[in-house]
Amino acid sequence: MQPERRHSDRVMLTIPLSVSGVDSQGRPFEADARTISLNRNGLLIEAARPLRLGQVVRLTNQLGRRTAEFRVVGPVAPLVEGAGQWALEALEPDSNIWGIKFPPLAASEPQEARGILECRLCHAVILMRVSQMEAEVLATSGLLSKHCAACGRETPWSYAEKHIAMGAPTDETEMFDAASQPSRRKHERVSLQLPILVRDFYGGAEITRSENISKGGLCFASDVVYHVGQGLRVVCPYNPASQAIETSAPAATTCPRSNAPSAVPDSTAPTTQSVTGR
Ligand SMILES: [Zn+2]
Repeated sequence: MQPERRHSDRVMLTIPLSVSGVDSQGRPFEADARTISLNRNGLLIEAARPLRLGQVVRLTNQLGRRTAEFRVVGPVAPLVEGAGQWALEALEPDSNIWGIKFPPLAASEPQEARGILECRLCHAVILMRVSQMEAEVLATSGLLSKHCAACGRETPWSYAEKHIAMGAPTDETEMFDAASQPSRRKHERVSLQLPILVRDFYGGAEITRSENISKGGLCFASDVVYHVGQGLRVVCPYNPASQAIETSAPAATTCPRSNAPSAVPDSTAPTTQSVTGR
């Protein structure tokens, strides 16, 4: 179940920040950043360096010099040349380093939504609390890093498959065996091999080719393992000489073996045209 995205207490505001913490090699860092939007429990920022999932960072409001600690929930835009956009959750919600007084929550207004998430390694399906910032990350990069009791460690989680793959093929047989179940197919697939650029939200990008394309999405060959539900940006067809619009979509089906096709359904009607219209 995809929780409703609430924007009621969100403030769109640009505040210059510095973000500091410790990188994966244990070295302290400090980088420039700015807010994109804020709410009482967290914010979206644009930062000039990559951050790690689950990492605790200190933000300093460069206008008021107030500081507080935040936890990195995940990326909300693909990392490009080291810079990216990230959702952060406040670890000290009462510190209010922005100097903004948010209205008190109505008793009828639950602070957190719930969503049915699936561990992408062991396929455990659990109804979990999803904070507003986690919902932001699920809606964009598609994956959260959460502790899985069955796996015994932090694993990637996304919305349970039925919800993200609605209208998209759910297995390889269905994907390629169009004649057997024509009524379940939303769109005709045509076998069309075009160069495509696929970009994830963690700095990864590959140039590969489509296997087949429909109005609802495309299927492509890849050596990269993408998780079901993971957000990807696709340029199709890809021409390095031209500026192209990237289409966002969650991965719907992946196969573990090398060079297996992946399927990416289009998430919204407008992006459908940019995949298939050119
Ligand atoms: Zn698991």
